[in-house]
Amino acid sequence: MKCLLCNKIISVRLTIRDIFWPSEILNQATCPECTNKFVHWQTVNRCRGCGRSGMEKGQLLCSECNYWKQMYGWYLHHHGIYRYNSMMKEYMRRYKFDGDYRLRKVFQCEFSTYIRQIPTDYIVPIPITTTTWQTRGFNQVVGLLREVPYLTALQTKIEKKAPQSSKNRQERLAASQPFILKTPAKFKHKKILLIDDVYTTGRTLYHAAELFHQAGGDWVGSVSLAR
Ligand SMILES: [Zn+2]
Ligand SMILES: [Zn+2]
Repeated sequence: MKCLLCNKIISVRLTIRDIFWPSEILNQATCPECTNKFVHWQTVNRCRGCGRSGMEKGQLLCSECNYWKQMYGWYLHHHGIYRYNSMMKEYMRRYKFDGDYRLRKVFQCEFSTYIRQIPTDYIVPIPITTTTWQTRGFNQVVGLLREVPYLTALQTKIEKKAPQSSKNRQERLAASQPFILKTPAKFKHKKILLIDDVYTTGRTLYHAAELFHQAGGDWVGSVSLAR
């Protein structure tokens, strides 16, 4: 088996358990060196909004989440699993921008397991634009899901002139609502969990969350692979 990221052969020392439960070795898509370059967020002193660690004692929200709370009157309960470090940026470049669909396997198992343990009524991935469909050929968020029952509740409104990734922070924050919620009545008094690949400014997820709040949703949370 070769590492999906560096092509090195992954040597697996088989145990009795692996012989009876081979699924766990098959899930190993990257070598230990590559795997170790991805860094999980720590679970202590996290911001209640975006999940970043390093909060002061007694501080619930970081300054960015306070900004959203002032704007909307609520904040998103977000979980980011990995730090958006240089390894993760390189991974996203290859997976999304080079469109290497095989790379979904690197995080599919862990990401899906993480999502399945969060109690919710509906799981809604962030959609991509028609232009992205034409160039990439797949939704990178959905690609990371395996055996996760999700709902395609959002659709993109208009073709954005420039993708979020090409904008600076101010331009991203000023962006207008890019989504339409297809069946709002369905979400009244429900719990909704939004799924995205990367949380950068939070702008995209807050736009999506706003629609579910307007539809009368009781709780809106979100998960991203990287933050
Ligand atoms: Zn590797
Ligand atoms: Zn925060």
